[in-house]
Amino acid sequence: MTRITVWDGANCVGGNKILLQDRDVSLWLDFGQNLNRLMDYYEEFIKPQRSRGLYELFVMGLLPPVRGIYHERFLQDYLFDEWQAHLDGVDGVLLSHAHCDHAGDLQYLREDIPLICSAESALLLRALQDSGREDSGTILVRRFEQKNGEFQTLAWNRKETPLATFRPVHVVDGDPEPMQSFWTQLPEERHTKCDVRPLQQLNGSVNGHRVRFFPIDHSIPGAGAWAVETEAGWVVYTGDLRFRGERRHLTEHFLQEAARLQPVALLMEGTRVDRAGSGYTEDDVQARFSELLKHHAHRLVVANFSMTHLERLQRVWQCARENGRQLVVNPKDLYLLHAWRISGRELPLEDGSLRLYQGVGKPPADAWEKSLHQHYGDLCITAQDIARSPQDYLLCFGYFDLNELPYLKVSDGVWIQSFSEPMTEEQRVDDARLNRWLQRFGFTRYPTRGDADEETVPLHVSGHASGEELAHVVETIRPRKLIPVHTPAPATFLERFSGICEVVIPEIGKEIVL
Ligand SMILES: [Zn+2]
Ligand SMILES: [Zn+2]
Repeated sequence: MTRITVWDGANCVGGNKILLQDRDVSLWLDFGQNLNRLMDYYEEFIKPQRSRGLYELFVMGLLPPVRGIYHERFLQDYLFDEWQAHLDGVDGVLLSHAHCDHAGDLQYLREDIPLICSAESALLLRALQDSGREDSGTILVRRFEQKNGEFQTLAWNRKETPLATFRPVHVVDGDPEPMQSFWTQLPEERHTKCDVRPLQQLNGSVNGHRVRFFPIDHSIPGAGAWAVETEAGWVVYTGDLRFRGERRHLTEHFLQEAARLQPVALLMEGTRVDRAGSGYTEDDVQARFSELLKHHAHRLVVANFSMTHLERLQRVWQCARENGRQLVVNPKDLYLLHAWRISGRELPLEDGSLRLYQGVGKPPADAWEKSLHQHYGDLCITAQDIARSPQDYLLCFGYFDLNELPYLKVSDGVWIQSFSEPMTEEQRVDDARLNRWLQRFGFTRYPTRGDADEETVPLHVSGHASGEELAHVVETIRPRKLIPVHTPAPATFLERFSGICEVVIPEIGKEIVL
């Protein structure tokens, strides 16, 4: 019997945790963090008390109450006894892409549960983890101890071994061999105290079930859709998809291939099912950036966009090069680019057009940053250097870099906000704060007002397919059952697609039998 249970990501955008069970196989399709629900209850100063285990996350509806998939040590002290399901084993997590709302809760899963994804996703996750606040979770899982009823990671300077272990990671594309030296690299003192596991390659099946990965276009490299062969037929999962970036032909290719599988079920994202598309693409965004750089040839230009949107970063870099400027990035940006290059992407990191911003009084402290400086130390540039000829640079800065502005000594810069409009109250407060900084330092802001993707010529396009494009997906693939996920409007699926296939609106924790 083939069963699909949506444990999170129904009737909301993000936090996808979908369980697919068939005969002797159990697979999760993504295990993301539901950021919206997290923010409903928490903020900077009220956080889930991870040091006490997972109890609070279950009670607050932030993790599925499924026994057998979490680190047992997190469950010991504060006993949760309202389990709704039990899994004896999990064969893997099929990850669609490395965004937090799809990968963010992997940190809670047992370290023997394999992660299966594209090489790009694996390396970006590794880079995000290395450079993140916690160096434990997605790939590297550290051991904990309980002290006075609290969980603490065992410090790296402890004598016993292992202090940490690598989660098994299988990549579905590319040869993992050239990636191994980056993948298995830890600073020497940690290396000897960790069960280091090389990247493995997936040979097209999990526990005898054929699985297929289709690379598609989205706002992060390495995104893909999945198809799993079950007793009932093929089950297809889109992850997040769009038709506006450099890989849009791959999204089309996925539709053709998925249609040939004649799937019994299609789990499809519907972030923008209620929205019409503007028709603009990343090419238009790039052209608009170029136009602004030409128009403001004598001023410092700062671009702010999502850190993991590396396609946009590469396009902005291209604009800088064409306009005789150097692109200045933060250490985290460069570390992501470095990881992306190791996954096989060709990037001219050393052709003189890229510089590494060296913040005021911020020498590299962490292991990842030190290794970055070993590779790219020559690219360093400081605020003082930039202040001497600001018109020669394009800076990739974000909200958290605002306190570098005083050191740039600029009074007439240009700030390009390449995001969609602020949606939540907190985002609006942050946006107002950003504006005050920009006013104080005399920046002109683009878009001048409102939504960057609603401008006549946009400075941002969405990472998600529009309503018409989603109709194109359904009409091409023509599944027997269509299950909406990652959408604020599942009812729209009923209205729009009931004539083409059976629409099944998922309920949290309720099995859909195929
Ligand atoms: Zn998403
Ligand atoms: Zn996404």
